[in-house]
Amino acid sequence: MDITITAATPDQLKTKPADESQLGFGDITTDHIFLMDYDASKGWFNPRIEPYGPLTIDPAAMSLHYGQEIFEGLKAYGIADDGIGLFRANENFERLNRSATRLCMPEVDIPKAMEGMKQLILLDKGWIPRSPGTSLYIRPTMIATEPHLGVRPSNNYLFFIIIGPVGAYYKEGLNPVKIYVEDFFVRAAIGGTGEAKTAANYASSLLAAEEAKKKGFTQVLWLDAAERKYIEEVGTMNMFFRIDDEVITAPLNGSILPGVTRDSVIRIVKDWGIKMTERSLPIDEVIAAAEDGRLQEAFGTGTAAVISPVGQITFKGHDYVVAGGKMGELSQKLYDEIVDIQYGQKPDPYGWVARIE
Ligand SMILES: *Cc1c(COP(=O)(O)O)cnc(C)c1O
Repeated sequence: MDITITAATPDQLKTKPADESQLGFGDITTDHIFLMDYDASKGWFNPRIEPYGPLTIDPAAMSLHYGQEIFEGLKAYGIADDGIGLFRANENFERLNRSATRLCMPEVDIPKAMEGMKQLILLDKGWIPRSPGTSLYIRPTMIATEPHLGVRPSNNYLFFIIIGPVGAYYKEGLNPVKIYVEDFFVRAAIGGTGEAKTAANYASSLLAAEEAKKKGFTQVLWLDAAERKYIEEVGTMNMFFRIDDEVITAPLNGSILPGVTRDSVIRIVKDWGIKMTERSLPIDEVIAAAEDGRLQEAFGTGTAAVISPVGQITFKGHDYVVAGGKMGELSQKLYDEIVDIQYGQKPDPYGWVARIE
């Protein structure tokens, strides 16, 4: 694929963050952006890398009115010998295409889209932070661009990738979070768009998350839409519970996001010989286990945090402390294992890391 590259001129270059220990999440983008266009009659065309800057889109662009937008989130890691590693990137692009199908948007050609991503990363590789725990966050995005105010799928799309350095998620160690079990609002219903990474899912979750934040919680734990009975997931993470010696996570039944980290955790837990079950888990079972002292640990999984331990669950006005409010043993072991594989500090028996330089 011929990607046209227009490099930023010296005056267009941005100032790189001076102190990697101050990096947060999501505020900084690099000097360039990868873009390509789609037209229903031609397919994808004009793959290009340009200086990072505002997009020009028509105010009637269909993504702005009817929400045809999908995205992905993955990371590149600074590894030994000034190398750059990607973690299971192919899975993210396959998920992007599944999201596309659900939203009546065109699939991308995965090798071509990944080639665009790699060239972008290599061009801006000076932005990759190299302190422990830091990484380069990658945000592939697709939006409908056809100017049309009738409701139907757009005939035109823009696919772009932006990247930016992000900090170690945990500055003061792995801090357990307090989660609020939401029993009124719902995130997604079976048959809806819960398993697609699409903007609408997040827009509709903001109100519940804001109300929980006001009450002092970090995250909302969603229950199923039909009965408000079964565990689904939290904001941008899948959830795992360890009850007695069984590790349990919700099955991929259509309303939860199939996380890449979720899949990695399932594989590793099974390989460690621990009982790992994907099944519907009633909130009442979790609460009963917490009351009996059988709830050993709870944690969320996602690209940003890898493993996010839960220290407290609040349900119907009652607080339940989990693992003494500390990070559980399995949570810590999983975090160390995955992070070591990502940064190439441990052998990668699964073939998850691809070195791009
Ligand atoms: C992205 C996301 C996840 C985590 O997926 P990863 O591939 O592990 O990063 C989980 N739940 C939701 C709702 C998400 O958007």
